[in-house]
Amino acid sequence: MLGIMMDKQLNIADILEYAAVYNRDAEIVTRLVEGGIHRYTYADALTRSKQLANALQSLGVQIGDRVATLAWNTHRHFEIYYAVSGMGAITHTINPRLFPEQIVYIINHAEDGVVFVDLTFLPLLEAIAPQISGVRHIVVMTDAAHMPESSLPGLLCYEDLLQGQEADFEWPQFDEKTAAGLCYTSGTTGNPKGVLYSHRSTVLHAIASCRSSALNLGPMSRVLPVVPMFHVCAWGIPYAAPIAGSSILFPGAGMDGASLHGLIDGEKATALLGVPTVWLGLLNYVESIGGHLDSVDSVVIGGSAAPRSMLEKFQDQYGVFPIHAWGMTEMSPMGSLCAMTPYLKGADRDARLRIQSKQGRPVFGVEMKIVDDEGNALPHDGRTFGRLMVRGPWIASGYYRSDENAAFQDGWFDTGDVSTIDPEGYMQIVDRSKDVIKSGGEWISSIELENYAVGHPSVAEACVVGIAHPKWDERPLLLIVNREGATCTKDAIIAYLSDKVAKWWLPDDVVFVESLPHTATGKLLKTEVRARFERHYTG
Ligand code: AMP
Repeated sequence: MLGIMMDKQLNIADILEYAAVYNRDAEIVTRLVEGGIHRYTYADALTRSKQLANALQSLGVQIGDRVATLAWNTHRHFEIYYAVSGMGAITHTINPRLFPEQIVYIINHAEDGVVFVDLTFLPLLEAIAPQISGVRHIVVMTDAAHMPESSLPGLLCYEDLLQGQEADFEWPQFDEKTAAGLCYTSGTTGNPKGVLYSHRSTVLHAIASCRSSALNLGPMSRVLPVVPMFHVCAWGIPYAAPIAGSSILFPGAGMDGASLHGLIDGEKATALLGVPTVWLGLLNYVESIGGHLDSVDSVVIGGSAAPRSMLEKFQDQYGVFPIHAWGMTEMSPMGSLCAMTPYLKGADRDARLRIQSKQGRPVFGVEMKIVDDEGNALPHDGRTFGRLMVRGPWIASGYYRSDENAAFQDGWFDTGDVSTIDPEGYMQIVDRSKDVIKSGGEWISSIELENYAVGHPSVAEACVVGIAHPKWDERPLLLIVNREGATCTKDAIIAYLSDKVAKWWLPDDVVFVESLPHTATGKLLKTEVRARFERHYTG
């Protein structure tokens, strides 16, 4: 017997319609790419999204078409999210940090007909223009006064496009499983793969994210997503914040410590979200000026493991509650996090940090299990580790127009991460499965070694890789970028690590380098490091 309830379909446009009426106190503040601060309300954003939808219709955009963005976190990008998905087309956010040939590949693979571009990224488009002939319109996200000279013919100006458009637009009604957003995930090998979000997955993810047991957003929150809108939709904040009634602070192109601190302090940010590298920049800056983060209640740290030293600094020095979170592009991205609990609140500092160093418990809607190579479920004892599998309504069930679907097995998605799960349900990432170091039949976690290494006062960044070894199969090699002005020796680092990990985990060598290679999403590019040091232990 079926329930007798309405079959109203979930739709992204309804989020902004709701916020425009009921969350009038909230504001959207943007540090403009052109300079200066822009502020307005959800009602203003709704009007302009409708004008944009009308404009897109006049450019011939139809339901199911892909509309791309190469853009920072700004109010205009926010409007594009709602206009494009609301009219039934698909918002395809492109990561400008990808290699140009990868950008060409994904624009052509997605068959983008329109590309919205920020001033910063126009040269990038100019360089690849001959290879993306399917793009019919390029819209520069600025006003007439800032329209640049360009080698590209027929550039459209965002503000001119909106000018004179009707402020009314009837959002079409469609199946909630209709595609709404497209984000390509770049592995370290092969072509990027497209994850195609639906209205249903996006709305459910947004509702789940803002709850107090997750990101804890509400009408009093002023949330600063430093995580880019071109990387998993800024972790869904452009959808979660209007539901929660929170104000949003968009940092534009200002991702450095000084710009972020200016926005945090000036606009009284309460909740921050970003990757560890960004927080390192912020913390270094705040420390250098003897500043504070007094307005901030919480900082979400995800995308890479949060080192314990970073958790300590936020918590002990600045009174900010760090929420360690884990997720993936394929998961919209939210999977698990370390929310505040009565136990955590009451725990002594050490016990609390031990838990916060883990990637947390799954939020409702995400199921997790760990399995061995044969797919057998492994115990949740906090020690046994295996391949982390997930399933849920906002997790991809395949890649867009791809037959690389080996990770999708029996209704579960193999995350490619290796982890433990403890009896309390806290998951801890041990490593990416391809990065875990196999030494003499045992496994060593490169992430854990890196996290300890960056705790050393002279270390700015650390990278551990497994290098072929004649006796042990693989042995760890530690690469270190020193903080500016700091000097350190291999012996000092090994001594520092000695009371933190088992003796056989200690790296056989430590190499000091100027910089480390990163992927377009800011993760360490370990394939490159491994290739460079391939023969380090074999000669
Ligand atoms: P992406 O799809 O680019 O967001 O990358 C997802 C991957 O980032 C995950 O599969 C993990 O390997 C890694 N990751 C994300 N969050 C964390 C975290 N808190 N700790 C360790 N690794 C993480």
